Amino acid sequence: MTLSADFDPTRAESRQLRVAHRLAHALAHQGLQVVYQPEVDLQTRQLVSLEALCRWHDDELGPVAPDEFIAVAEARGLIVPLGEYMLGQALADLPEVLRRWPQARVAVNVSGVELARPDFAVRTAAAIRSVNPALAAHLELEVTESVFHHNVPVVRQNLLALRELGMTVAIDDFGTGQSSLARLHTLPFDKIKFDRSFVQALEDPMVQAIVKAMVELARNFSRTLVVEGIETPAQLAQLVALGCRVGQGYLLCRPCALDDLPARPHWPTA
Ligand code: C2E
Ligand code: MG
Ligand code: MG
Repeated sequence: MTLSADFDPTRAESRQLRVAHRLAHALAHQGLQVVYQPEVDLQTRQLVSLEALCRWHDDELGPVAPDEFIAVAEARGLIVPLGEYMLGQALADLPEVLRRWPQARVAVNVSGVELARPDFAVRTAAAIRSVNPALAAHLELEVTESVFHHNVPVVRQNLLALRELGMTVAIDDFGTGQSSLARLHTLPFDKIKFDRSFVQALEDPMVQAIVKAMVELARNFSRTLVVEGIETPAQLAQLVALGCRVGQGYLLCRPCALDDLPARPHWPTA
């Protein structure tokens, strides 16, 4: 990473401290919100699952992007309560989700910091049990390749235990980490979410070949492939032609409050 000449570590540190302080306040005072973004079957337009994404608009800082506050939460010991809050919201919203889409799952993003804790599976199972054990079969965990920077045997144990309950596991932002393919087999997973950087480079024949190979790979191993970040009708048409079945992106549906989600997403065609 290169730092610009005007990078000021003292200022960056004080911003991080301020964000951490306000985030702790938000966690203690119900100051966070959840929005949901559908994953959609590209042929039938049926909603397959809903990804829960955290939103924060602070009274003093204004809106803070997840890319900033999740990193601060991980660095400052706040990611565990944040993850528990998101799971709690997902569990609270699941009855309404299932009323509207009986086959759907709700996916929550989990950080490697959470997953590397030996008690993660036990605490997650307890949270689900306290609401309704049957909901485990409608929950998914999204993990990024950054989990490989953590204690992989513990991460693996946690994922195996939660899959026993019926939860599924998705590898998020696939293709952005290091040695992705080489390490893929070391974690139990059901779904691959292909990073949006591939969609943005779709005019490159090499990228088209990679997408095609991923479609094959997922099919051969009976895993679901979801393409993230679809923004234009042209990208969608090209992905469908390459064999992609499930997608997510602003074209299909933006993240929004549960009450505002359309029953069946509609999108403009080219
Ligand atoms: P992610 O899990 O890969 O989520 C997808 C991100 O891409 C979301 O950004 C979403 O709003 C955005 N997105 C969706 N469709 C499109 C598109 O068509 N084009 C573009 N350019 N972007 C699109 P968001 O909500 O800002 O979240 C950023 C990241 O922050 C997430 O990436 C996830 O890694 C993390 N995050 C968000 N909520 C949570 C959470 O509750 N817990 C944890 N651990 N991480 C979270
Ligand atoms: Mg995600
Ligand atoms: Mg993603």
